[in-house]
Amino acid sequence: MDFFHYQNGELYCEETRIADLAAQYGTPLYVYSKRTLLHHLTQIQQAFAAVDPVLCYSVKANSNLGILKVMNAAGSSFDVVSGGELYRVKQAGADTSKVVFAGVGKTDEEIAFALDNHVLMFNVESEAELDAIARVAASKGVVGPVALRLNPDIDAKTHAKTTTGKKGNKFGMDIERAEQLAEKVLADPRLSLRGIHMHLGSPILTTEPYAAAVVKAAEVVARFRARGHDTRWINLGGGFGINYRQQEAKPASAYADVIVPTVQQAGCRLALEPGRFIVGNAGVLISQVIFTKREGGKLFVIQDAAMNDLVRPAMYDAFHRIWPVQPRVPAPTNYEAEIPGCEPADVVGPVCESGDYLAKGRWLPPLERGELVCTFSAGAYGMAMASNYNSRPRACEVLVDGNQHTVVRRRETYADLVAHEM
Ligand SMILES: *Cc1c(COP(=O)(O)O)cnc(C)c1O
Repeated sequence: MDFFHYQNGELYCEETRIADLAAQYGTPLYVYSKRTLLHHLTQIQQAFAAVDPVLCYSVKANSNLGILKVMNAAGSSFDVVSGGELYRVKQAGADTSKVVFAGVGKTDEEIAFALDNHVLMFNVESEAELDAIARVAASKGVVGPVALRLNPDIDAKTHAKTTTGKKGNKFGMDIERAEQLAEKVLADPRLSLRGIHMHLGSPILTTEPYAAAVVKAAEVVARFRARGHDTRWINLGGGFGINYRQQEAKPASAYADVIVPTVQQAGCRLALEPGRFIVGNAGVLISQVIFTKREGGKLFVIQDAAMNDLVRPAMYDAFHRIWPVQPRVPAPTNYEAEIPGCEPADVVGPVCESGDYLAKGRWLPPLERGELVCTFSAGAYGMAMASNYNSRPRACEVLVDGNQHTVVRRRETYADLVAHEM
């Protein structure tokens, strides 16, 4: 479900014409729908309402301050993975006492920054990290709140680069080690064990991995409590899948159905860290065709968005729907089958890499120089992973609210490209 739709033969975001935004701000251009953001947040809030969860929007999916402010105003908290992200959520006005801090490599400076801001808990990934938190907390005369990140050895059946809860990933620790570390926390007045954390990977399109994970978490919590820990939190991370191709995603209620009863039985508070589910379908990337060419028996559509703007196809073999903003052929429901009046094309960018493409062999109507195309479901891990590779200024970002819009990041200039160099 999102609020991008074709009407009178052209693409709209809510009540705003995409072509108008492209004319005003140029391309490549990220366009976000506030209504879609709020729709997805509300869906999760309602689905899990029975356990009154703390929803920590995962900042790394899209860290634009405009998005963070919308999330904050709607009652979301935040999951951060760096000091920089903690700085951002503070700028957005967040209550940092509900923020969780994840990541395998927190520095002493980042730990100190988080303690100064009284974060809810650190998702701890190793014994060395536990020791570092204890040391920094002691130097400040405070107690470090921790959750141990378990690697439950569950196969989330997602891309190798985005699975995180399988044995052999760099993330988390196995259950035996978590039990040893729990003993250590119990003996250390500088630390308190708040709960268990897991994040299985992303995007996950089935509920089974969550069902298995929450049962493991509840077992571990019960064992910790039997040893005298006041363990109150189960944090199941993020990873809920979204519609990239058709309507393949599950509603939030499907995940809630398998998670909520076990959390209730365990008598725990629930934290979740959804990123993609909230922002993924709430953003699109608009670009303009520069040239088309036929070579080697193929049609190439060369347009002005590239891997530096959206790296997911190059990095994760990701599929994004692509269709013209003012199409001569109505948008299909299935983008993966042959489409009448269309021809397969590679949609590529100007960057000097063969890996620079947004789609390969994609059925598209005839496109001409200057035509606008839309790459859908680009709100998560799009601009957040953008770079200046090939000295390309980063795109402009616009947040739409009905028939109004706000520029939430201006387009970078050539001067911006060299601003930090001396
Ligand atoms: C990336 C990440 C998330 C968010 O994943 P999504 O797929 O965007 O929901 C949540 N928690 C942790 C620890 C992460 O690293």
